[in-house]
Amino acid sequence: MPYAVDFPRVYLSFDDGPDREWTPRILDMLEEVGMRATFFMIGRQAQRAPELVRRIAADGHAVGNHTYSHRHPWSMGECAARAEVRDGANALSELLGQPPRLYRPPYGRQRTCMSEQARTQGERLVLWNLSAVDWGPWGTAGRIRRRLAHVRENDVVLMHDGRNRHNRPDELGRMLPGFLRALAHRGLCSCSLS
Ligand SMILES: [Zn+2]
Repeated sequence: MPYAVDFPRVYLSFDDGPDREWTPRILDMLEEVGMRATFFMIGRQAQRAPELVRRIAADGHAVGNHTYSHRHPWSMGECAARAEVRDGANALSELLGQPPRLYRPPYGRQRTCMSEQARTQGERLVLWNLSAVDWGPWGTAGRIRRRLAHVRENDVVLMHDGRNRHNRPDELGRMLPGFLRALAHRGLCSCSLS
């Protein structure tokens, strides 16, 4: 049962997917509590799992552009950097029949030409203000749980459903059901960014 619109909100976001193993599990967990989130997808990954992209949209979540192949924004020339943003959006548009309205740069690194490209395409730049740090040696379920216990109304929370690089969706997946129940218990509801 979806929450009423005037519930205090948070905005959970999942980056670097979709992932055939973890994205469906996370979608099931969100469905269980009737909450929505935003998935910032890598275009190349989206093309590999079109059915997941469509399920995410059909389930009422928002989809954002996380570039085509997740290259570090500072690792390439301007043409290639703009193409990453353009191709990422095109991949999602083709799968969903409409262009994404949100953009998040890889590693949260803002590069002017990429932000400009996203804006030209009608996408709003969205970063985050609370990170799960669900990667690397500190990305264990226990540590993620302690970090996210600090979540407050209107926070945009960074998490990862994709296994890109050092992400640990397995650890995130272990703590997520409990975290979502705790949110609901506090009267907080996750909504999609739109
Ligand atoms: Zn990323």
